[in-house]
Amino acid sequence: MKIRAITLERLRLPLEPAFHAAWDPQPREYFDATLVFVDTDEGLRGVGSGDTMDGFENFTSLFLGSDPLRIQHHVEVLESINFHAARYWPFEAALWDIIGQAAGLPVSVLFGGTLDRLPVYASTGSLLEPSARVEVAQRLHDEGFRAMKIRVDPVALDQGLASIRGVREALGAQMEIMVDLNQGWRMPGDVTPRLDLRAARRFASALNELDVFWLEEPLERHDTAGHASLRTQSGLRIAGGEMARDVNELLAHLDADSLDVYQPDAMLAVGMLRARFIAELSHVKNRWFTPHSWTNGLGLLANAAVSAGVGGGPFFEFPYDPPGWTTERRDFFLVDKLTIDDDGYFNLPDRPGLGAILDDDARRRWRREG
Ligand SMILES: [Mg+2]
Repeated sequence: MKIRAITLERLRLPLEPAFHAAWDPQPREYFDATLVFVDTDEGLRGVGSGDTMDGFENFTSLFLGSDPLRIQHHVEVLESINFHAARYWPFEAALWDIIGQAAGLPVSVLFGGTLDRLPVYASTGSLLEPSARVEVAQRLHDEGFRAMKIRVDPVALDQGLASIRGVREALGAQMEIMVDLNQGWRMPGDVTPRLDLRAARRFASALNELDVFWLEEPLERHDTAGHASLRTQSGLRIAGGEMARDVNELLAHLDADSLDVYQPDAMLAVGMLRARFIAELSHVKNRWFTPHSWTNGLGLLANAAVSAGVGGGPFFEFPYDPPGWTTERRDFFLVDKLTIDDDGYFNLPDRPGLGAILDDDARRRWRREG
């Protein structure tokens, strides 16, 4: 089998009203998604998404005419490109989609087949007043969620604590609570000072009183010593690694035993094959692997395939923060919006490959030229 064509398709969904995520300096008025299609000479078509793929056109000649099943080789080529340009992991997802179709198996089975459904946490993204956050938490609970993640603004820790305390008081033990400080990376142009270790330690100790499930990205992402110290002193689980730029960054955390929960996003960090490698290392060290998945529906499917394959968990990120961030927005180019069952689990599609069915009307409607 040979790769015959690689095509990028750029979509732009207007967001009315705009959505203001905690990590964005301004509210977002549109949501961009790039689909990468890989066509083979045998008529198979794979698709991946989850990052911009800007500039990937300059590198497609490295793959055209080659066998899509040579995944190890292609991952190493993508890593060589990553050094010079950008992370193009949605292309790897498209290759896995083809491999799954060729094998007649879901990608999650190719990745180990441990689970076919994942308990999720509702990953909220906006910063709300405490009373509004409690209302959302109650609604999420009514919808079947048994865990949720709350973003906290590092310059308004007291307000964040009030939200977390409010949710704990309203829902008691019926809701696990994760907390994300998003200190590991920055959006372009954001040079806000980070929390130092002392402030993170004080915050972590308050979270411990509230029985928080994990604290995510409390410090700059390379600070293995700080994470290790926080982990041993706070009594809290510490999570991180979602935007690691290479495998060695995650190996440094494993060497320092600085995280309880390893979260490399298969589309935004190290790719699917390497995320699986990190998952295995985490598991043999009795640590958790559960990837970040906040991109779009296809990015979520790729991460879910890795996580279900290796038995990741105990909770999988389900980006969901209505009314700002809904399944209709997140999965706007998919026919079937990804939802949870009555037990609060995401069931993986049992179709071969990644299992996405694209909505051709939505693709036509939201197509962006250039
Ligand atoms: Mg995070």
